[in-house]
Amino acid sequence: MSANLLARMAGAARSLRLTAGGECRVPGAVVFAYHDIGSDPANRTDYYVSADTMRRQLTSAAEWGIRFIDLAELSRMVIAGECLDGLAAVVFDDSLVGVHHDAMPVLVDLGIPATVFTVSAALGQAPPWWPGAARVMTRGEVQEVVAAGIRVASHTRTHASLPNITRDAITSEVTGARSELEDLTQSRVDLFAYPFGHYDPRVVDEVKEAGYICAYTFLNGRITPGLDEFRLPRLNMWNQSRTRLAYHLSRSAASWPDHQLPHAYGDRGEPNLQRDGR
Ligand SMILES: [Zn+2]
Repeated sequence: MSANLLARMAGAARSLRLTAGGECRVPGAVVFAYHDIGSDPANRTDYYVSADTMRRQLTSAAEWGIRFIDLAELSRMVIAGECLDGLAAVVFDDSLVGVHHDAMPVLVDLGIPATVFTVSAALGQAPPWWPGAARVMTRGEVQEVVAAGIRVASHTRTHASLPNITRDAITSEVTGARSELEDLTQSRVDLFAYPFGHYDPRVVDEVKEAGYICAYTFLNGRITPGLDEFRLPRLNMWNQSRTRLAYHLSRSAASWPDHQLPHAYGDRGEPNLQRDGR
């Protein structure tokens, strides 16, 4: 029996204990990655999570002993190699208006910090990278969520798939977004998420060069000390029932795919074009 299968079976047993009222004691941290949040029960868009579901997910995780901290603090701890056990952070990719209208009230009510990976040149627009999704927040709405305590991080200027553009264009996307978002929020922006989860070694170099200190992918996994801080995994929160979330939060870091091994860049150096990222 493979070590991976054994680890997954152990995770399943732990998840049963969690849903029965136990505490989550798996080493490492998890980043809860959301996209669109709303209040329309008929919305069946991929990655859409209702505000009620998000509240239930966060409340369940807190009941299981997970403590939510600011992604900036979590990132600092990853870089410092500190213990991450029992910690989680909440993030939203693409800076859609649902974060302002529907997620922010829940987060404020629960007292849970959060970070929005913002697309700096798309503010106020319908997202061209995601036909049918709600519009991106306006400048004013971004400033309002910041005033409510939500952190802004970078998701490039236009949500380009970075391995597919020139080096100069990558520089413009990552450096330009950082300065535009720092101007908008009047605060430091040094956390990054790859659009669609796409990256290659050239993209990672540009992200480092632009002054970011951590970058997040769209591969599912658990963060433990020693991981490459420019290829950190998260947990896609779409379609996470209570049972499924308990199972995922109970999985050890080793039971997830080997997303940080060199082959995660592709066998011949081709970009990591994940199939499920936005
Ligand atoms: Zn995105």
